Amino acid sequence: MANEKQPQEQDLMEKIVSLAKRRGFIYPSSEIYGGINGFWDYGPLGVELKRNLKDAWWQDIVRCPPTGPDGLPVEMAGLDCSIIMNPKVWEASGHVVNFNDPLVDCKQCRARFRADKVFSVKAAVGEDVLVLVGAEADSADQARAAATAAANSKTRRRLEEKADRIEWVIFRADLAPEGQSTPCPLCGGQLTDARKFNMMFKTFVGAMEDSSAMAYLRPETAQGIFANYKNVLDTTRVGVPFGIAQIGKAFRNEINPRNFTFRSREFEQMEIEFFCHPSEADKWYTFWRDTRYQWYIKHGLKSSKLRLRDHEPSELAHYARACADVEYEFPFGIAELEGVANRTDFDLKSHQAAAGRDMTYYNDETKERFLPYVIEPSGGCDRATLAFLCEAYSEDEAPDEKGVMQKRIVLRFHPRLAPIKVAVFPLVKKDGMPEKARALLDKLRPHMAAFYDEKGAVGRRYRRQDEAGTPFCVTVDGQTMQDGSVTIRERDSMQQVRIPMDGVLAHVQERLA
Ligand code: ATP
Repeated sequence: MANEKQPQEQDLMEKIVSLAKRRGFIYPSSEIYGGINGFWDYGPLGVELKRNLKDAWWQDIVRCPPTGPDGLPVEMAGLDCSIIMNPKVWEASGHVVNFNDPLVDCKQCRARFRADKVFSVKAAVGEDVLVLVGAEADSADQARAAATAAANSKTRRRLEEKADRIEWVIFRADLAPEGQSTPCPLCGGQLTDARKFNMMFKTFVGAMEDSSAMAYLRPETAQGIFANYKNVLDTTRVGVPFGIAQIGKAFRNEINPRNFTFRSREFEQMEIEFFCHPSEADKWYTFWRDTRYQWYIKHGLKSSKLRLRDHEPSELAHYARACADVEYEFPFGIAELEGVANRTDFDLKSHQAAAGRDMTYYNDETKERFLPYVIEPSGGCDRATLAFLCEAYSEDEAPDEKGVMQKRIVLRFHPRLAPIKVAVFPLVKKDGMPEKARALLDKLRPHMAAFYDEKGAVGRRYRRQDEAGTPFCVTVDGQTMQDGSVTIRERDSMQQVRIPMDGVLAHVQERLA
């Protein structure tokens, strides 16, 4: 897939960030004090969007799990673990020693970067160097697009003219060939050699601030699941193969948070650890990889922007047998939404050794005792929310009160994710219309997120709801007062139909399903 980001796509990201702030989806954390890098707050519309996303995941994974490859519903149990755990968990999992990112500093401007996320980008035709810059990015493709977008118009023209003769040399700062360095993405200065930085946030438990009281804020929810694997087996009726699912906060002291909420320091994960017999691990891996990919498509991420990328064997962690990323083409480039991995018995084996607890499973029917393999689909709620926001954003034209076509911003959310499902308006603030509209609102509210608005011209109210992504708007007008009918307008087509007020709930429910 081509990954050239044109300037207009960078503008698109700015428009989305500004809409998110203006309409109360996402605000910078502690903004009144200048914010804090890598932390975000979800406003009234954002919290509904993210909650709908998490509810949809929980419903489709835990309460009504998919049918597995053997034709039976998958067995799944939910969990909600503490954020702070015994630090021994993180020693056993390998995070204390291995959860490091390579860090580089600019010797000139002192900016700090993750070395595996900084690229040297050079474009040359023979001796003629058109571009030689450092770019912060998640992939070489993204880095090339960022360097192209940041070039001045003269350089961009030259890049286009000589496109077929240009040789691009792109490498990661921590993998720089001998004798070559990466320019600082901010000032072009020289970067230091990479050194290790552990990304876990530390804190102290209790009154003492010494090493015996030190603990970590969890960098992933998965380890809480492994630590409770035996508890779940012993206290429920599940048996291998089965999964444990959890949604919760995770914290990573990212060296350079960026791309809005995409790379934050505090975020939420939706994780499944699926325990199965080692001989069935390949089958379950394929099942979960494909199921999770389809889930995003079902909720509106166009398959042309979504891709499933199988990792090369060289990319795999030493314990993993297979891994694939569900990736989405954000305005800032293609990046990971969710990873699905076959983690073998690495985690259970590590905890078994460190905690001295038997983690094996005994199959009563086959009389076999074994250590299950684990398939892990691990997604980010914030990244998914951002992807759905980016996908939903569109601009078209709609007539204003005087029938003149005006630009319209509309968020075309899947109805299941839309923060508000239906808005109810009285056409005017008199003649009994507000009372009728409020009565309708009261009927709708127990069933769905419904919103009432009586302020301003009705056309403007429609546009405000389009910007919030509300799929339906109902207007109570003069005719309602005579025959009890209302108009219901659909967000995407902007078509209006007249239906009896009593039928609104059923009409909307049918279309939300
Ligand atoms: P990356 O390579 O982008 O740092 P990762 O491969 O380290 O991500 P995992 O450890 O696999 O990520 O975490 C699972 C999921 O958690 C990711 O797919 C992503 O959706 C989410 N996630 C991880 N780090 C962050 C972050 N800093 N901000 C927001 N979401 C994150």
